[in-house]
Amino acid sequence: MSPKTIPPPKKGSDDRLPVLFVGHESPMNAIEDSVFSEGWRETAKSLPKPKAILCISAHWETRDPRVTAMETPSTIHDFGGFPEELYAMSYPAPGSPALAAETKRIVGRFSVGLDGEWGLDHGCWSVLSRMFPRADVPVVQLSLARRLSPPDHYALAAELSPLRREGILILASGNIVHNLGRIVLRSDDFNEPFGLPWALEASDIIKTLIMEDRHAELAAYEKLGSAVALAVPTREHFLPLLYALALKEEDEQISFFNDQAVAGSLTMTSLLIRA
Ligand code: ZN
Repeated sequence: MSPKTIPPPKKGSDDRLPVLFVGHESPMNAIEDSVFSEGWRETAKSLPKPKAILCISAHWETRDPRVTAMETPSTIHDFGGFPEELYAMSYPAPGSPALAAETKRIVGRFSVGLDGEWGLDHGCWSVLSRMFPRADVPVVQLSLARRLSPPDHYALAAELSPLRREGILILASGNIVHNLGRIVLRSDDFNEPFGLPWALEASDIIKTLIMEDRHAELAAYEKLGSAVALAVPTREHFLPLLYALALKEEDEQISFFNDQAVAGSLTMTSLLIRA
């Protein structure tokens, strides 16, 4: 190696913000302490403070890609049957019209619309209220466009890469295994660790593909067999995973946290991607 070769960046001097995929599931984790809320909190403490957050949540689907562009996004309580305390909760983080415009600008493959109607849904705020409880980091949401195929979503996500070097934390929020129709509660504790055999099998298949960087196979998840078909009966909770993986660069590692099945048919498995 020539002495003139540019040295690798020193530890801690990486100019990229890490990327996160989080399993969110029950919004109760926003108000009840759990191993999962603790995992989110601890992970956030390990991150540099972002200038803003771009969140891709399972709970915002639109026909075409849209990005929230309002100054003050509202807290959306998009769930039913939970305690009043949860409906009373707000997450008053500011928006960032500048980040919305930048997101629209850098995505060349698809047209991204600026949105003034949405806000922050629970896939986003239930997690962020634990990670950044002061609500002092601006948050923008990017929708999941129904007209895009999973490989299209992956391609769109890859175009978000420059944001990481502008101090933007990209947070994708869904659940890898998510079948609400097959939930089995064995106690009052929703977070009791428990996975049905097919859920654990699907989790293992998908985690192996994640660790081996086999992203094309993950984007073609319909071909991964019967356990994965049960784990991913609809795509909206799985697609955010593709957003995080598309942003992984060659020199980066993946660490899992909150890697736990609950209620039989859900996993909270979360990923932190960083060099
Ligand atoms: Zn959800």
